[in-house]
Amino acid sequence: MRKIRFVTLTSVSVLGAMILLVGCSNKKAVPVPSPETTAQAVYSANLPTNDSSTAKQGSTQEEKQGGADHQIVHLENGVEIAAKPDDIAVLVNKQVKLPDDYNPPDLVEPKIPFIFTEKDDRRLMRKVAAEALEKLVADAKNEGIHLAGVSGYRSYQTQKTLFNYYISVQGQELARKYSAEPGHSEHETGLAMDLSDTKGTCAAEDCFANTPEAKWLADHAADYGFIIRYPKGKESITGYNYEPWHIRYVGTQLAKELTSKGLTLEEYYDHKAMVSN
Ligand SMILES: [Zn+2]
Repeated sequence: MRKIRFVTLTSVSVLGAMILLVGCSNKKAVPVPSPETTAQAVYSANLPTNDSSTAKQGSTQEEKQGGADHQIVHLENGVEIAAKPDDIAVLVNKQVKLPDDYNPPDLVEPKIPFIFTEKDDRRLMRKVAAEALEKLVADAKNEGIHLAGVSGYRSYQTQKTLFNYYISVQGQELARKYSAEPGHSEHETGLAMDLSDTKGTCAAEDCFANTPEAKWLADHAADYGFIIRYPKGKESITGYNYEPWHIRYVGTQLAKELTSKGLTLEEYYDHKAMVSN
C-alpha cells in the first residue's frame, strides 16, 4: 500500500506538527502514526531550518511511500525539493527538483561507445547505473543492436545554461515545454542516459522510435534496471513528450515492476505531474 503524508509545521514545535493524511492508492483509511514518530522520521531525512521565519511561513514535508522506497520532498517557496537526491528511485520532474547544490556522489564513465569524441560530463553516470549500462550495451551488441551514448550527466550549471539558451531561441513557453528548468532535469541525477545507434542517427529525435535500437531498449531495458522514463501515452503524467531514447536507472526490481505494470515513476509515487501547456 502506498501512503502519502503531509507534515505541516506551523510552529517550531515538532510535537505541534499537524498530520494530514491526504490519500492512498485505494482510498481506504490508513492508520496515522503518532505525530512525534512521523515528524521525527521525516526530519531525520532532511532537517529544514526551524528559525522563526520558517515557522511563520510554515514549512511542509511530504513523505510518499511506494513499495520499499520513499519519496520525501520538502517545500521551499512552493517548490518541491527531493530530500533524498541520492536515492536511485528519486523522482525528479517538472514539479520536483534536486537541491541546487546537488552533485551525484560517484560519477564514472561507462565503457560504451559515444556519438561524440569530447571527454566531458555527458559521458558520466552514477557508478551503479554506469555498470548496468555497460552490460546492457554489451548484450545488445551481441544481439546485433549497436547502441551509443548521446547524453548522460548534466550539472545544474550546464542545465541552467542550456535552459537559458532555449529561452533565448524559443521563448519561455516552448523552452518550458521541451526542456527542463535547472534542478528539474533527470540528467542531473547521474541516473539517466540518452541513447541512439552508434552513428547518432535520430539521436534524441522522434524518428528514433522506429529503430531496432528503440524496440530492443523497450523490450530489454528493465532487465538491466532501466525504464523508458517518458513513455508514449503518458505525456500528461510525466509532463514530457514520448522519449524512447531516454533511459533512467531505478534498479532491476523497480524497473521490472514499473515496466510490467506499465507505470511511470510519477504513478508509482501517486504523483501528479504538472503539465506545461
Ligand atoms: Zn534525456
